[in-house]
Amino acid sequence: MSDYSPPVRDLKFVLEHICDLNEIVSYPAFEHVDPELAFGALDEAARFFSEVVAPTNRDGDTIGSIRNDDGTVTAPPSFKKAYGQYVAAGWGAVKGPMEYGGHGFPGSVGLAILEMMTSANMAFSLCPMLSSSAILAIDAHGSDEMKATYLEKLVSGEWTGTMVLTEPEAGSDVGALRAKATPNEDGSWAIDGTKIFITWGDHDMVDNIVHLVLARTPEAPPGTKGISLFVVPKLIPDSSGAPADTNGVSCVSIEHKLGIHGSPTCVMAFEDSTGWMIGEENQGMRAMFTMMNDARLHVGLEGMGVAERSYQQALEYSTTRTQGRAVGAPKTEVSPIIEHPDVRRMLMTMKAYIEGTRALLFDIAGAIDREHHAPDEATRLAGQERAALLTPVGKAFGTDLGVELTSIGVQIHGGPGYIEETGSAQFFRDARIAPIYEGTNGIQAIDLVMRKLPMRGGDVVDDFLAEIAAIEPELRSADLGAIAERLETGRGALAEASAYLASCDNPNDALAGATPYLRMFGLLACSYYLARQALVATASAADDDWMAAKLATARFYATQLLPQAGGLLPSVMAGADQLFEIDLTAVSA
Ligand SMILES: Cc1cc2nc3c(=O)[nH]c(=O)nc-3n(C[C@H](O)[C@H](O)[C@H](O)COP(=O)(O)OP(=O)(O)OC[C@H]3O[C@@H](n4cnc5c(N)ncnc54)[C@H](O)[C@@H]3O)c2cc1C
Repeated sequence: MSDYSPPVRDLKFVLEHICDLNEIVSYPAFEHVDPELAFGALDEAARFFSEVVAPTNRDGDTIGSIRNDDGTVTAPPSFKKAYGQYVAAGWGAVKGPMEYGGHGFPGSVGLAILEMMTSANMAFSLCPMLSSSAILAIDAHGSDEMKATYLEKLVSGEWTGTMVLTEPEAGSDVGALRAKATPNEDGSWAIDGTKIFITWGDHDMVDNIVHLVLARTPEAPPGTKGISLFVVPKLIPDSSGAPADTNGVSCVSIEHKLGIHGSPTCVMAFEDSTGWMIGEENQGMRAMFTMMNDARLHVGLEGMGVAERSYQQALEYSTTRTQGRAVGAPKTEVSPIIEHPDVRRMLMTMKAYIEGTRALLFDIAGAIDREHHAPDEATRLAGQERAALLTPVGKAFGTDLGVELTSIGVQIHGGPGYIEETGSAQFFRDARIAPIYEGTNGIQAIDLVMRKLPMRGGDVVDDFLAEIAAIEPELRSADLGAIAERLETGRGALAEASAYLASCDNPNDALAGATPYLRMFGLLACSYYLARQALVATASAADDDWMAAKLATARFYATQLLPQAGGLLPSVMAGADQLFEIDLTAVSA
């Protein structure tokens, strides 16, 4: 299997030109950071994740995490070793709050590091990724005592965090959960219930695991309004902060699944486990959303990050595998498959979508940095709106593409792609979970249409479309008129789709159009980001092949991928009737 080469130049390019890192580091919260320092960290991270973490990816798949007869869970040995090095090198602390030992870098820089970790080994990356979301939730909503007890250990990576929502009867419908929280006399709570599918719910890489658990207090109202969030450690820390007493938390079993075998997916039992409430009673979803929004961006990144690794491997394979004779090649030769137009199409499709979604996801990260740290209210609000609008798109479009692109990666290998030894199949299997967890992609589409589209009476979407329109004249004067033309058409289609959805009297009609609408949105947004990159690249494309490739990629995307957006308009606007016309169960036999 080929090695992983982190796309550091593209990460720096996107941080500079899409996130505007120079502006972000000018905020007082980041006065200790400058772009050179951040970029130096990325160079170091690239070395670490390609040399230390990437080689563990195959082990994760073939050995997997194992639940032992005594109930303990053992991660693949190479994971444990790499995780120890990860903690020792301080990678977990890069964007952590400085008062708890973090380096306080912008989240957008943290995302670049996370991309490299995800491409290197997605199953491994889930553990630190969930810890970083838990840190956010505790930092934003926890008590001072809670922060003092948990944050330093989570930031360093000495302990890891989990996100504990799902129950057998409560998946997408979180409000149906039944886990109970009963008050103890000392202000803590007794947590009882069974949770399923808990990622890294138990393992042997650290001394303690900090579970963030959703449960209901007595008399809580039904649905999501009656949910509270609790921190429930696997081992209760003693007065010195060291993990001490067991806490009735156990891993009952782990799932056998399609991919991410290295990541233990646990059924967790909480039996009279002591927990402490995070934030206020019945406000658990608010606190959990802090964690979930962060995690949704990161899951979107999983799709793109795994696709990047799949692309690198497919590209290399296409230069060494020879089959047939390409048009124009000497009669005596067989050609590398990269010379065939259809293979080129597959490679260009992978490259263009990856670079487009990378920019989309980093724009969200930059918006979140602005939301939390910009000194002026207007910029903070704009950041908050941008992140809210684009997070469901980044999550769902990024992860749908993760599956599609890793499938193309398999296709480029031909038969060997279907054989496990090449590693290409693992990327495809690993990527398949990302459209399901962290809110299925269907739920993301509903979020986009029912909650995000109506923001500010539709003006948030309109502002985004106006931003796209604003670069079209620039593109035309930079000799990129073909891109401008396609953007204009795609923008018109999305505007029409948005207006239709906003005007639906029957909610089922809007819900029926949600998934194709999100796809249109993602298709257009990525073309816009690639167009912005092309505008930057025009200045130096003549002397720099990498920049010239940016122009070519933006052109390819706009002329060959973006037109799908217009094709989706009839699906968005078809309403729900056709979906319910047939009694599917009656005609299935
Ligand atoms: C490997 C793995 C790791 C996971 N990690 C975690 C974790 O760490 N913590 C955690 O709490 N959970 C975790 N989960 C659970 C995951 O978040 C849920 O599986 C997911 O939210 C979907 O819930 P469900 O499986 O019950 O599917 P369901 O909710 O039953 O959904 C089934 C289908 O119906 C659709 N659907 C459901 N409701 C609606 C609706 N209202 N409108 C339209 N369509 C709808 C869905 O989109 C989906 O296609 C994990 C799951 C897996 C498989």
